[in-house]
Amino acid sequence: MNSIKYLSCFVILLFLFGCISDDTHGPEQNTTTNSVVDDNNTSIIEEGCDPVCDAKYDCISNSCILKQGCDYDNPACDHDYNCIGNECILKKGCQYNNPRCDSEYNCINNDCVLKKGCQYANPKCDEGYECINNYCILEPSESGSISIKGEVVDSTGSGISGATVQLTSQSVSNGKIYRMYILDEKTTADGSFYFSDSDITEGELGYRLGEPPYYFFLTIYKEGYIDEFIYDYDETPKELSSGEWNVGKITLSDLGTRNEMSEGRFTVKYYDGDEECAEIAMDSMQEYYPQVMEILEVEPYSDTTDFTFNTILEQGYGDWLGSSNGIWTVCYPWTDNIDNPQIADMWNTAIPHEMAHHVQLYLKKPYWAEEGIAQYTTKTINDEIDCSEEFVSIVDLHGENMPAYDSAACAFHMLEQEQPGFFQELLQTMEDDNTNCNRESGYFIKTTMSDVYGSDLTEYFVGNFGFDTETLEDENHCP
Ligand SMILES: [Zn+2]
Repeated sequence: MNSIKYLSCFVILLFLFGCISDDTHGPEQNTTTNSVVDDNNTSIIEEGCDPVCDAKYDCISNSCILKQGCDYDNPACDHDYNCIGNECILKKGCQYNNPRCDSEYNCINNDCVLKKGCQYANPKCDEGYECINNYCILEPSESGSISIKGEVVDSTGSGISGATVQLTSQSVSNGKIYRMYILDEKTTADGSFYFSDSDITEGELGYRLGEPPYYFFLTIYKEGYIDEFIYDYDETPKELSSGEWNVGKITLSDLGTRNEMSEGRFTVKYYDGDEECAEIAMDSMQEYYPQVMEILEVEPYSDTTDFTFNTILEQGYGDWLGSSNGIWTVCYPWTDNIDNPQIADMWNTAIPHEMAHHVQLYLKKPYWAEEGIAQYTTKTINDEIDCSEEFVSIVDLHGENMPAYDSAACAFHMLEQEQPGFFQELLQTMEDDNTNCNRESGYFIKTTMSDVYGSDLTEYFVGNFGFDTETLEDENHCP
């Protein structure tokens, strides 16, 4: 209450000074009854307050002085405080740090609310995820290296040295299964093999593995033995993120002799274990041979068709081969899985294609025409020939090149569309005069094909399929 005393004195002093400065009244005013002076809203009378002060005021030294405290807004409380019993009391709640929230909570509308995120188990991460910086991150596979080892033995249990062990990676994309070669290794003198982590992941083709977990399977082959294919179980590849895949002992069976099954002109040759592949091959040949013959209408080279299932080594390059003598492929573990549309599609295109080679390969022609005729036959049978896209050059075609095969098929298809019967007449002409000259594109296009067509096809092949006018001219000097 010191301040109130001081205020009172201050007011009185002001008054006194006022008197002192006003010589005419002098100190007598102090004693004047009912003399009222207004000064700063303070009514001052000499004895007591008249009129009586309002309830909010105290009468001090004849002055109505506003009472002290928040009830009288003198002073009012800060906005964080409530005025209770004329005292400013800090409001309750986290907004006023009274009390403040734990560090795991946010103060929202004056309530402590648990923060969001896995760090606060709100919500927790699913299994297999790790909470990092409040985000659920897929747990990295266990760190550590991978390796694969095993031993290749013969039927007596002795190690086979020099067998090839090929490591393949499998991936699935758009429902299609892709198997990609990673590396291979030969077994040591005691038949063992070992792929170290660096062999697998740091090799030239290690990038094909992608991120772990990896999916592996092994192909093992050696001359004189039946190929083996090693999965984790059934036909599921081995999933490996870390650690060692110990394949154990793999027994290679002796190759023995090929089995045979024959029906009519068809014979299928296969090893033990390839029976299902053999059945599919026989059925497919019987289905497609008449359709191929209906399109080609030439005398087949041979009275018989042999379909041979090779080992990987016997097959050498290429999954499928067709020649005048027959057709060859490898019976892989998936080759007989025709419930898989991808495998069914393989059979439905490979058989008519190779069968077309088999029937008319003896008719001499350039390589692009050989593949074009085989592909035209296949696409026509499957009713899926499409010549609406721009063609690729076929003039230098060699090896397997599907876009070029398809363009070459169109070279025949479009002429056949324009002149129905053209294709069969062309083959008939080639059969009647199976001249070596037809091996040259110049002669084949400018003479054989153009004669059947009725006018020069040079522009057709130059404009669409990458041929060069001068080269065709140079190659047309066959007698
Ligand atoms: Zn071909």
